[in-house]
Amino acid sequence: MNEERQTHRANVLANLDGLLPELESAYKDLHSHPELSMQENRTARIVADRLRAAGYEVTTGIGKTGVVGLLRNGNGPTIMLRADMDALPVKEATGLSYASSATATDAEGKTVPVMHACGHDMHVTWLIGAADLFARTRDAWRGTLMPVFQPAEETAAGAQAMIDDGLFKRFPKPDAVLGQHVMVGSSGVLSSRAGVVTSAGDSLQIRMFGRGAHGSMPQASIDPVVMAAATVLRLQTIVSREIAATEAAVVTVGSLQAGAKENVIPDVAIIKLNVRTFDDGVRKRVLAAIERIVNAEAEASGAPKKPEITPLDRYRLVKNDPDAVRRVDDAFRKYFSADRVQKAEPTSASEDFGSFGAEWGAPSVFWFVGGTDPGLYEKAQKEGKMGEIPTNHNPRFAPVIHPTLQTGVEALVVAAQAWLST
Ligand SMILES: [Zn+2]
Ligand SMILES: [Zn+2]
Repeated sequence: MNEERQTHRANVLANLDGLLPELESAYKDLHSHPELSMQENRTARIVADRLRAAGYEVTTGIGKTGVVGLLRNGNGPTIMLRADMDALPVKEATGLSYASSATATDAEGKTVPVMHACGHDMHVTWLIGAADLFARTRDAWRGTLMPVFQPAEETAAGAQAMIDDGLFKRFPKPDAVLGQHVMVGSSGVLSSRAGVVTSAGDSLQIRMFGRGAHGSMPQASIDPVVMAAATVLRLQTIVSREIAATEAAVVTVGSLQAGAKENVIPDVAIIKLNVRTFDDGVRKRVLAAIERIVNAEAEASGAPKKPEITPLDRYRLVKNDPDAVRRVDDAFRKYFSADRVQKAEPTSASEDFGSFGAEWGAPSVFWFVGGTDPGLYEKAQKEGKMGEIPTNHNPRFAPVIHPTLQTGVEALVVAAQAWLST
């Protein structure tokens, strides 16, 4: 890289120090006003206003609350930067001065507490910051910047909702799709890897049908309780007997419901299960095994009709394109000190970020930004007490603002600049 480019890159970030106090208050405001999946109306409004003020063409309401900005700045690549906006039905217990005490009505009509327990408020603030910096320094880069704020990552619905609402038809196909997530890790440290970053996640509902009868007359029934119980046990053999030691998968039955009274044999049992895999081939085999076992157990019981298997949600594998991740990694290493750029292991968490790149046919890169106080993190590591650091989704999850906030903005700018440099 020549010196002139170095200067240009520095120029985009030159205004960051001045912007940080404002971003910090934006973050605290978002944190204390969290919104559930597909209800991100206030957040979307704030984001749209900021993008408009910075000079972006703004489209709102994509996939219900999604917001897309476009800043066309001459010939050059199109780079999509993605942030998710939703919070979780969790009661905040961080004790922070800007903690949330919000409640909302969930999809089932229940009133629930709401908290940004996954750090998506940080993601939104990072992207607002990066979008702002690029808009202020248009002579330092060429191309099109496309910030995408998506709803409902936590329910695996948001990315798909934006795609179904014409994202791919209404906006230019990006040359790269970039995204980041705050996680447990020393604040200010970035980590990523080539290939699989987060697992694929599939949730299924299975309805198994029997024939109801009086509890005293089992001969008149086809008991779905026994049918489902046998199925749950047999499902455990998929991972233990059908998956090689070198492969990985998780099959968890998280819900099993049948009947309401001890002397009534019900006519239906409902199983809800969750599958995590790190390889498309393994995923196909596990899903096929589930179907085979469920159908065979129903038949073994003499079920009056075939079980109903319904997908509840699906997270694709998040896979980093090897060339694109190398480009981002090189840019990170040039900008950050070497100890702040680390290699991540694949994680069994799931993300719908993967849908954008995979379905658009564009290379994508996803990385993690540590959000834990470095002193606390080091101490926990030394004492083998990593389990005591609150993870994402924990009521005490609270990224430290500094330097997490600054690092995420810098990372987005530096990564996008790996394509947009003049
Ligand atoms: Zn989450
Ligand atoms: Zn998340």
